[in-house]
Amino acid sequence: MKPTIVLVGRPNVGKSTLFNRLTKTRAALVHDQPGLTRDRHYGHGRVGGKPYLVVDTGGFEPVVDGGILAEMARQTLQAVDEGDAIVFLVDGRAGATPQDKIIADRLRRTGRPVFVAVNKTEGMRSDVAVSEFHELGLGAPYAVSGAHGEGVRELMELVLEAF
Ligand code: GDP
Ligand code: MG
Repeated sequence: MKPTIVLVGRPNVGKSTLFNRLTKTRAALVHDQPGLTRDRHYGHGRVGGKPYLVVDTGGFEPVVDGGILAEMARQTLQAVDEGDAIVFLVDGRAGATPQDKIIADRLRRTGRPVFVAVNKTEGMRSDVAVSEFHELGLGAPYAVSGAHGEGVRELMELVLEAF
């Protein structure tokens, strides 16, 4: 069975950029799902001979009244529930934000395997870039650059190891 990998994270951390890279070779299969799943994008990819389905959740865009938690409940948690593994993107240039910590706490409670990907780390030392993200309590964070493709293959090999 092809595992479903769900990309989550607050707005602007680079989810869609990474999604495009992960689905590049099958870009024609990327499509919008109307109706219930209208805020999610699905695409297919493959790494090291292993195929996967990847979901771009559209992020935890805060809603006017409910705030970030309500938005997570509304769309992203459903994607997380349907996923086999979660890639939680954070911004290595912005550092760990209060929103990141809220999302981390919520993801931890899902019981799904979560991989913290510290994005936008091109030109940075990986160990320095990831250091403050250990505090999210989701295991070792991995430095990547979705825009430049750095660390992406290694991350996906790790994510897919269990499948
Ligand atoms: P999303 O809101 O999480 O889907 O984020 P986007 O993929 O739309 O990217 C938000 C911004 O971050 C855009 O300006 C991207 O060009 C930029 N971005 C994405 N990935 C990287 C990266 O690896 N390095 C840098 N420096 N910028 C990035
Ligand atoms: Mg996006």
